[in-house]
Amino acid sequence: MKKILLSLLLVTFILTSAFSAPKYVFLFIGDGMALPQIKAAELYLESVGSDKRLIMTSLEAQGMTTTQSADSFITDSAAAGTALATGHKTNSGVICMNTTLTETYKTVAEIAKENGKKVGIISSVSIDHATPAAFYAHQPSRKNYYEIGMEMISTGFDLYGGGALLSPKGKKGDQPDIVDEAIKAGYKVIDNQVDFEKLSSKNEKVIIFNEALDGAQAMQYEIDRQTEFSLADLTEKAINLLDNENGFFMMVEGGKIDWAAHANDAGTVIHDTLAFDDAVAKAVEFYNSHPKDTLIVVTGDHETGGLTIGFAGTQYSTYVDKIEKQTLSFQNFDAVYSHLLASNPNLTLNDLLPDLEKYFGLSKKDLNDMDIKKLETAISDSKKAKLPSTEYTYLLYGGYNPVSVTVTHILNQKSGISWTTYSHTGVPVATFAQGVYSSLFNGYYDNTDIGKNLINLYNN
Ligand SMILES: [Zn+2]
Repeated sequence: MKKILLSLLLVTFILTSAFSAPKYVFLFIGDGMALPQIKAAELYLESVGSDKRLIMTSLEAQGMTTTQSADSFITDSAAAGTALATGHKTNSGVICMNTTLTETYKTVAEIAKENGKKVGIISSVSIDHATPAAFYAHQPSRKNYYEIGMEMISTGFDLYGGGALLSPKGKKGDQPDIVDEAIKAGYKVIDNQVDFEKLSSKNEKVIIFNEALDGAQAMQYEIDRQTEFSLADLTEKAINLLDNENGFFMMVEGGKIDWAAHANDAGTVIHDTLAFDDAVAKAVEFYNSHPKDTLIVVTGDHETGGLTIGFAGTQYSTYVDKIEKQTLSFQNFDAVYSHLLASNPNLTLNDLLPDLEKYFGLSKKDLNDMDIKKLETAISDSKKAKLPSTEYTYLLYGGYNPVSVTVTHILNQKSGISWTTYSHTGVPVATFAQGVYSSLFNGYYDNTDIGKNLINLYNN
């Protein structure tokens, strides 16, 4: 009898320990990142003579993940984030609610919190943006930024960080300030580099805004970043702050891979993908000292831009080294160009050439007749008070600054890299995993399976 009891106890112990959640779980989401973005970054590394592999592609488990939303084969980040965070499909634009908007879904981050884990949500874009919001908010529209911000506080997670808030006082600016509400709820709110570096207390909830934000309250593109913290710096800081005897769940989003891909700027995509991989490297360092207690999952929410490696004009050749010479994002070049045009309203291509060389490494001898014609048209279009919104101008510029997008198209195509759209696409994304239960992420499966797998770890 004693023997039977003992073996029963042993079986129970093995079952419970075999299915208990890993103490530390990292979920990395590259927004707009699929194999083309990953491989372009690896080609770039090869071209600059660095390691030829990203950390993420060297992880032990590898999968392919389908991304469609409930109402569109090509998803947006709200539906994809909901799938990754809750294991449920919903319509594009919806955050963690069902398609009829009658039910809310609990997220893996909320479940981790209920399981006694500390929780951190990090993004290089504003922390009320669709992907981070999908881990703590439940809203019929991703655009309900104020409501999302209020949910961020009421969820009570331990750390939020990266970009800031898009609507801290509501649409009309007459609501209680979310930052004040956060402080009242016990959060320490940091908004500068000095305080970020000093931050070391594990005993308080914290919201960290980067001191250098763009007009959309996001961190700067990596290619434009100065001395402010990077996504990897923030991930490392979060690991130090969240590490505790009960463990943590952390979601880290590289949000601007997507934005640069919408603008068809491969150089900026590559630098943001490398910055995202540097953040993954911080988790892998942590895994190396806690290999039995850590799970790292790295995925994308969808592909953006229809990026591919290969262009009709370069046939079988690639020249990714040309992208090394790009030193700023399309967005910062918009500002350079606007300034130039303001000081010289009659600007011609010749006036622009020094800046094309300085910022993109393109000299006059690099430009063929077709490039020159395209640039001259773009300069002329950029001078129009209002560009007619026709299908033709959309195909040419996608609503972006005509000159910036024409320059990045030319540079990218000369590198053997090309784009099909200014929106998302429906191709599967790559998923990588390392550590306990990483084998769950081998194979070909749907993005909802990632959410379900993660939630099952906590629910069993
Ligand atoms: Zn997007």
